[in-house]
Amino acid sequence: MSSNTEVAVVGGGIGGLTLGLKLARSKIDVLVIEKLEAPSSIYKGELLQPKSMQIFERLDVLNEIRGNGFSFSRIGFEEGENEFSMDYSILPGDYDYAVMIEHEKLKGILLKQALQYPNFQYLSGAIGKGYCDGRLIVERKELNERLSVKADFYVGAEGRNSITRKEMNSKIKKIEYNHHFLTVTFPRPQSLDEGKIISKDKRFLGLFPLPESKVRSVYLIPEGTYKEYLAKGIDHFHQNYLELFPELEGFVTRLNDWKDIQLMIPTAFYADKYVNGRLAILGDAAHTVHPMAGEGMNMAIQDADVLGELFAGMYATGRISSSRLKWYEKVRKLRAQKMISLSHLSALAYSYSNRFITGIRRKGLKQIERDKKLQFKQMLNVSGLGYWSESVLDRFVQAGLLPARKRGLSTDAKRNYFYTEKDDYPWKC
Ligand SMILES: Cc1cc2nc3c(=O)[nH]c(=O)nc-3n(C[C@H](O)[C@H](O)[C@H](O)COP(=O)(O)OP(=O)(O)OC[C@H]3O[C@@H](n4cnc5c(N)ncnc54)[C@H](O)[C@@H]3O)c2cc1C
Repeated sequence: MSSNTEVAVVGGGIGGLTLGLKLARSKIDVLVIEKLEAPSSIYKGELLQPKSMQIFERLDVLNEIRGNGFSFSRIGFEEGENEFSMDYSILPGDYDYAVMIEHEKLKGILLKQALQYPNFQYLSGAIGKGYCDGRLIVERKELNERLSVKADFYVGAEGRNSITRKEMNSKIKKIEYNHHFLTVTFPRPQSLDEGKIISKDKRFLGLFPLPESKVRSVYLIPEGTYKEYLAKGIDHFHQNYLELFPELEGFVTRLNDWKDIQLMIPTAFYADKYVNGRLAILGDAAHTVHPMAGEGMNMAIQDADVLGELFAGMYATGRISSSRLKWYEKVRKLRAQKMISLSHLSALAYSYSNRFITGIRRKGLKQIERDKKLQFKQMLNVSGLGYWSESVLDRFVQAGLLPARKRGLSTDAKRNYFYTEKDDYPWKC
């Protein structure tokens, strides 16, 4: 069997569905193929950063996302006896908060919205097997069907093991870490209504509130110790959480099966090219980041936004050419590299637990909280709304070698560091 479309997207994760919705709204024929037949129970990204909110507002899905998610603006840090906080509300404008939403719920919202457009086609249980003679080969095992898809462009949004990246001969550079995480969602006390990162001795616990009085947690364990944790039993798991955050008594203890708890192995990699001829990759197919800064899913959304806008322009003007795909790589590759560095630095801060590193981390957090300029930079860079590199002076302030600067920035001065339409979509100028 064969099928024709304008853009074929391999992978119906958050990145593929955001692109699919964007193209559908731009009246471009789009086919999304997804190998899963039903929602997955595997934990993935659930923290939406401010730039994603801006993108979703333009796609008319923000209200539904907020209605199904939990919004908060503050993340509290407990470092032994010390407490610090970082606040998205330091960002001017409408997107001064983060949202936690269950991964499959978000996918469902995007898919439902996209399916309203007759030019959007979605095939589940459809596996992209590879490319042959410039066509995408798709297998639907259940139906015992093999499909050959002809499209103007093919986008690989199929995550880490991307067949499109392979076809493009794009090489990846990998970073590995000395720790793993246990991650699980369970009921939360009402008082836990903001992000919380608790670090004590060699331990690290991240807690992020979800709607319906649930909380998603991540607990750091040294590499290679998962089996030891399993052998110690679920009570030991509860105990670790309770020692770090006693308010979880009666909540984390409701978990009674290790099967609910997922092992998460952080790796980071980045591909050397995002486009090749009529092929492009986005999201985890192009880059994965350490989960510490909560950026992976947001980067996939941002990739989809830029690539989608580029396609929309091409089809609207009739200037449909693979050479124009380079614009996408030009905008997104550099930004992704910055996010990889940011996530990597956050990961390193919690990778080693000797007194020296703990001391630097504590000092750094304290100075970021005190120094409004540093705090703005931190939240801006995490938000995806803009980027402002840290200077040597900032590093000295962070290390406590220079005093924290008392004066913050005016709203206008802050806005100057936001990406403009020209930064996001430079081909339009
Ligand atoms: C445990 C965990 C926690 C995380 N926490 C966060 C977080 O807090 N914040 C954050 O921003 N990010 C987080 N991430 C990362 C985030 O989930 C990913 O970066 C994000 O899901 C990437 O989206 P994607 O659409 O690029 O890829 P994916 O989510 O991997 O989606 C790819 C899709 O393609 C499908 N597929 C794969 N191969 C094929 C094929 N050959 N044919 C057809 N379909 C195929 C897959 O089934 C999948 O549905 C986390 C990840 C994990 C694993």
